[in-house]
Formats: sequence, structure tokens, C-alpha cells
Amino acid sequence: MAESNSADLMDKIVSLCKRRGFIFQSSEIYGGINGFWDYGPLGVELRKNIRDCWWNDMVRRRDDVVGLESSIIMHSKVWEASGHVGGFTDPMVDCKVSKQRFRADQIFFSAVVVDGKNVGYVTVLESERIAEELQEKAETFKRKKAIQGKLEPVQPRDFTEAKSEEIPLIPSPATGEPGSLTPPRAFNMMFETYVGALRDESAVAYLRPETAQGMFVDFKAILDTGRVKIPFGIAQVGKSFRNEITPRNFIFRSREFEQMEMEYFIADDDDWAKWHRYWIDWCRDWLVSVGIPASALSEYNHPKEKLAFYSKGTTDLMFKYPFGVQELWGIAARGDYDLTQHSKASGQPMEYFDDVKKKRYVPHVIEPAVGVDRILLAILCSAYCEDQAPDEKGKMETRTVLKFHPRIAPIKVAVFPLLKNKPELVKKAQEARDLLRPYMTVFYDEAGAIGRRYRRQDEVGTPFGVTIDFDTLGEKGPELADTVTLRERDTMKQERVKISDLPGILLPRVR
Ligand code: ATP
Repeated sequence: MAESNSADLMDKIVSLCKRRGFIFQSSEIYGGINGFWDYGPLGVELRKNIRDCWWNDMVRRRDDVVGLESSIIMHSKVWEASGHVGGFTDPMVDCKVSKQRFRADQIFFSAVVVDGKNVGYVTVLESERIAEELQEKAETFKRKKAIQGKLEPVQPRDFTEAKSEEIPLIPSPATGEPGSLTPPRAFNMMFETYVGALRDESAVAYLRPETAQGMFVDFKAILDTGRVKIPFGIAQVGKSFRNEITPRNFIFRSREFEQMEMEYFIADDDDWAKWHRYWIDWCRDWLVSVGIPASALSEYNHPKEKLAFYSKGTTDLMFKYPFGVQELWGIAARGDYDLTQHSKASGQPMEYFDDVKKKRYVPHVIEPAVGVDRILLAILCSAYCEDQAPDEKGKMETRTVLKFHPRIAPIKVAVFPLLKNKPELVKKAQEARDLLRPYMTVFYDEAGAIGRRYRRQDEVGTPFGVTIDFDTLGEKGPELADTVTLRERDTMKQERVKISDLPGILLPRVR
């Protein structure tokens, strides 16, 4: 990861993403719409590669996981049974003066205590340095009010923990003044719509806030295909929608995002903790396989008292984003809750018959659930790098490189004829391009100085560059005819290889 300060790094990534066509603000020409993003030409390739890698590793290369694509809009009873209609809420707080909205669990405050006496409150928004920022604010508060005495260390709490008598005294993060924050209230994050021409209660439907319910609702149908035996999983990739109160941190928290979820069904008496561990390790190894360093990952076990009553355990794989260590992938042991709920609500049994043990039971489930966009952001943050490289004249300059793992790089190889006005060079370059195209994404570029063309590809993370020069035409002797230079992005090392060998050399390196 780059050695620059965190806010700076985020700004550089956001600007690179826009400039080079990875990610744009949705509807930008109309001023944008908060929490929605568009993926440009390179962004879609990167996203597709992440999705495909996951699908190949999770479904195609395993005997025990099958795929599913369920509809985005489902019967509204699905969301009643799953508990989303009643409980898919976040605690919301309004600032009555600024009209801004906050998630209560993202506002942190502390009493300012001097010589054992509470003299006021300070507030900050969630960040990597909550305690330090609160302490700095407490010191400023004491100095500005000219209060004498010993300031005690701050005790950070989030706004959901504020006592009702404290709420009027806690400053709004928007105005810095107390008195304008409302008590937190539950806000349902599901987007509502209507199905059909009538706009009454019976027509209400929801855009799914997760893909997982599709796997539970279709559990019986998949079981009846006879393809699966416990333990087995059902996997799905697709869009989910949440009307997040405060979408932020670029694509980290959006209102429309894509999930990759898998429900792994195990026997009711199986060792759930063993399977839970298995899937946590699988997810971590998978992230490393797409280029996220293990050193940037950590595990967070949800404390028992904060788990839903049915949950046996939830572990989040956390990534060190520039804006703090945050959840990337949640791996939850959900017991038999979801299948039981749907069985009760639909009247359809959701049982599995074990023909060895001659026993019928509702399976338990382990759920690894991740967002494509959060992985994509973690990959961008891990890949972004600035180093020093010589320019055309040998002078050192700063080079921006996205060190994508070749598996997920949007373009695998760029092909350059040394000069665009030499038809023999162009012809050979086009031959090399056409030879590689059936196997991988190739970018053909003949515009500008060769050094500049390399830089452009470094900046979008293309791992290999192929240059066709006069040696290729045999001008330095027949032994070099039909050979090209193959340049590796990170080391910038070049080797001379035969054009016909390119697919054989590159394929194993980009898979
Ligand atoms: P958070 O606490 O960050 O809101 P969550 O615990 O509600 O996340 P889950 O319901 O467990 O998230 O969703 C599974 C995964 O989907 C998350 O680990 C994350 O990768 C992704 N995800 C959830 N909400 C969003 C969002 N608003 N934008 C992008 N990705 C999301």
C-alpha cells in the first residue's frame, strides 16, 4: 500500500478511478445521486474478474456448492418471514438545524470531565482515531471555556448509548453546537415499490436488501433436483439495495451494491464451529489469492451479547481501508433460523431427509456474505502504489502503478508497435494482438512515445506489455526476427520472447 497519508490516498484513488474510467458518480451530469455509482470501461472488467474468480472458486471448482440466480423482487411475505420488514433498521439521528442525517452508531461522543466534574460534551464522527480526536476536542473545549483543573481522559460512547438527559447536551457533528440532535429512531432500510397497476398495501414489494433469502426460499426446489447432499452450499451473485442513512467512503457503503453470498447447509448435529472456521479461512485465503495482503486483514468476532438470538457466532474479516479498519466479509453461523421461519410462514416443510441416518431435520447454515464493491475497493487500496522510474531520457520520475494481481487485472496485456507510421511494425503488432485476444483482454495502443504508453498501462494495472520493434522485423539479424520484448509491470524487467510463444508464456501467469 502506498506510503501516503490516508485521506490523501483515498483522494488519489477516487481521482484515478474517475480519470481512467473505473468508477464515476452516477447521474453526474445532473449533480449526482448520493450512494450510487457507475462502473466505466475498466471498472466493469475489474468487477467481472472479481465476480468470475469468486464464482469459479466457490461454485465451479467445488462438488458441494451449486449456483442460483433468484429474482430481485420477491413476494413481500419473504421479507416479513425473514424479519426484514420488522427489523432491518438502522438507528437514525437528525440534526434539526443543519437538516443532516446520521447513523447513531457512527456518532461518537464523550463527556468532558475536569477535576471529576462533567463540564460538557464533545462529538466526532466514526474514524480511525475516535479516542484521540475526542481527546483533542475535549482539550480545545476546556481551553476555549478557560476552565481550570485536570482534564480526565475521554470515555468514547456511540450515540445509541446516550442517556435521554445527555442528548440535548451533545453537540451535533454538523454544527458543533448542542441541542439540535434528535433521539435515535429506527429507520427501515428497504426500498419499497409497487408491483402491478394498483398502488395499495397489497401491491407493496421490496428491492432485496440481501441475496441470501433467495437461497432459503429456493432451498426445497434445489433439494428436489436431487443434485445435492448435506453438507452443501447454494451461491448467488447479484445486486442488493439498502437505503443507507449515510452512504459514504466512496463505494464502501452504497445504496445499490452487489453481493456474493453462499449459504452452506450442514446437519443439525454437525460441528458448526468447525464449519464456521473452515469458511472464515476459505474467505481469507480467497482474498489473498486476488491480491489483498494477509497483513491488511484481521478478524472481528461479534460479542455474544450483540448477536441476534438465533446466531451462534459471527466473524467479520476486516480490511484496513484508508478510512479505518472496516468490515469486508461477514461469516455468520445462523443456525436453522431462516429455513424454520420460511417453513412456518409458508406452511412448506424445509427439511432434509438423511437416508443413512434415516432422520429428517431442518439443516443449519453457515453464511459467508461479501460485497463485490467492498472487495473492489480493498483491491484498489492494496494495489495503489507510487514508485520511481526512469523517463524517456533516463531521468527518474514518479510512476503511479496499480499492482493488481494478474488474475483480476482488467487488461492482461498491452501490445505496442514501436512506431505507428511503420506499416510493418503495425502489422506485426496486430498479429500479436490477434494471437492473444482469444485468451485474454488485450489493449492495443500505438499513440505516443513508448515510455508514455507504458505509464498509461502501469496506471491501470496492466501486468504485461509487449513491444514490437525493428528487431522483430529481423533488422538486427534473423535470430531476433518475430521476437518481441515482454515487459513486466512491477519489476519493469524486459525479456525477449517469440511472438508464437506469447500465449503459452502469458496464460499461466494471468490465470
Ligand atoms: P455494515 O455493518 O457495514 O452495514 P452489514 O453487517 O449490514 O454491513 P451484511 O448485512 O452482513 O452487512 O452484508 C454482507 C456484506 O455485504 C458486507 O460484509 C459487505 O461486504 C456488503 N455490504 C453490506 N452493505 C453494503 C453497502 N451498503 N454497500 C456496499 N456493500 C455492502
